[in-house]
Amino acid sequence: MNNGFSLLDVGENYHEKSILIYGDSNDIIKVPFISVIFTIENKNILFDTGPNIDGNYPIMKRFSTKQNKGQKLEEQLKLINLNITDIDLVIVSHLHFDHAGGLKLFRKTGIPVLIQKNEINYAYNPDFFYKEVYYREDFDYEDINYETINGDYEINDKLKVIALYGHTPGTQGLLYKYNNNKMIFTSDAVYTIKNIKPELRRQGFDSCTSMWGESAKKVLLKNRIENYEIYPGHDPEFYLNKKFAPYIYKL
Ligand SMILES: [Zn+2]
Repeated sequence: MNNGFSLLDVGENYHEKSILIYGDSNDIIKVPFISVIFTIENKNILFDTGPNIDGNYPIMKRFSTKQNKGQKLEEQLKLINLNITDIDLVIVSHLHFDHAGGLKLFRKTGIPVLIQKNEINYAYNPDFFYKEVYYREDFDYEDINYETINGDYEINDKLKVIALYGHTPGTQGLLYKYNNNKMIFTSDAVYTIKNIKPELRRQGFDSCTSMWGESAKKVLLKNRIENYEIYPGHDPEFYLNKKFAPYIYKL
């Protein structure tokens, strides 16, 4: 297979716009959940895993979380003819319920799951304001093959993990660079483009606003100086204009 990536539609929340952009309206909006599957040099690399809708966590009621059968991670992968066991590497941006719910699919597979060490540590004992978004049922399994890292990490000559702390203590994103293709997948380090352009606007939920600001500026510089296209975590408008699996963006 040629090199490429597909965006996976793994569900959505319905909540106030002010959760994405602090101080914005309290209108309820549809907020997409995104996973990304890359195929690079015949290796399949998954970024984020969507929610575990069967967990029925209290937060899912508050945010009217939806994931229909076709939005389950396994079903989304099937759209591009992949099964869970075809995945060579999983990278999880952070362990909030809307990103970590599919990790249990990788139990007993031996497939490595890259995570920042400070993220997995924090997930066991989050601050009071984050207790309802971390669920041990999503991540606390001895038979998941976690590979913990600290900071940036090179996966291959085209794909790199970039530390973007602040949304949570260990949020990480991905940089892809080859020929004219330059993309940065920020996950929730940047909820929406409006959080960083034309000026920084605080997000409704971050563990540390000052660290978040530094990470947001890091993303912005990649965009301004090196022309990386920003793929934000939950931007309703941005993803309206993108194609999802089975479409494959060629790299
Ligand atoms: Zn999220």
